[in-house]
Amino acid sequence: MLDAESGRLIVNPSDVATSQFQLRKRARIAQTESEAKYRSIPAVSGSGTRITVQINVESETTLERLDPESCDGIGLTRTEFLFHDGLPDEEVQYRFYRRLIEWASGKPVVIRTLDAGGDKPIAGLTLLGEQNPFLGVRGIRLSFSNPEVFRVQVRALSRAAALGPLQIMLPMVTIPDELKTAREMLREEVDSLVSRGIAAAMPPVGIMVEVPAVAISIARFDAAFYSIGTNDLIQYVTASSRDSVALAPLYDATSPAVLELIARVAAHGRSVGREVSVCGDMASDPKLVRYLLEAGITSLSVTPAALGSVKHAVSAHGR
Ligand code: PEP
Ligand code: MG
Repeated sequence: MLDAESGRLIVNPSDVATSQFQLRKRARIAQTESEAKYRSIPAVSGSGTRITVQINVESETTLERLDPESCDGIGLTRTEFLFHDGLPDEEVQYRFYRRLIEWASGKPVVIRTLDAGGDKPIAGLTLLGEQNPFLGVRGIRLSFSNPEVFRVQVRALSRAAALGPLQIMLPMVTIPDELKTAREMLREEVDSLVSRGIAAAMPPVGIMVEVPAVAISIARFDAAFYSIGTNDLIQYVTASSRDSVALAPLYDATSPAVLELIARVAAHGRSVGREVSVCGDMASDPKLVRYLLEAGITSLSVTPAALGSVKHAVSAHGR
């Protein structure tokens, strides 16, 4: 018997264990059916606040059999998968980004530039032998150390931006200069495309907030929007690796330090009129949604399987 909720494989389960399992399974099915009603409707909290709920996209298959009407657009596209079989050329990338825009039918599409390194090594690109890859050359740091790879991605993104409401998001930003440099490189590529008669547009550039330094001094980052990456933010705040089972009790999304930082970023977003979203796994956990709403978050980006349960949790909050 495989208990996917607790991650346990039970060999030769007893009759008692089997019947308990069947009961839980039935309760789970009933819960999923009642949450499914929420999937196709906009998320509104019990106190009447409209909460944006977008989806996280990992690859083209994420979009299969998924109705764009069930969400408010794409809040995070992890482009890493494009790079797993070698470096994708500009056309391959452009076609994928165009597909996202077509699927979203006018709703916003946030595409994150390559976030390789840390838990996402890519052969031939990420460094070998880093002692501490989570604190190493990953995310935007890796893009800057491979500008020829970054510029191809930026060109494909700015061509796709001419087709619809595409927004670029930079991962692992640590200092304001990184945002400035990325924008300058983007501007150069847009100008060069346009001067050659190729349709391209300068999309808004937002940042992931996943490094504590950014959350603490968020007002220094003049980004078009902010998206809180709780997967990494929690591990850096609690000094507990996101992939460590032994440290799971310390890796706590509800720790006061994490929640204070989330609230701080949300307050900054409100004060400057820029969107603050949460795209880390915390947003996809219906048990944790209330902490985000209480911290002032009004935009979530979730794994598509969680659309019903998260919207249900939103509607139950503040009733
Ligand atoms: C995060 O860190 O929360 C995040 C969304 O990015 P990733 O999980 O891809 O590192
Ligand atoms: Mg991250």
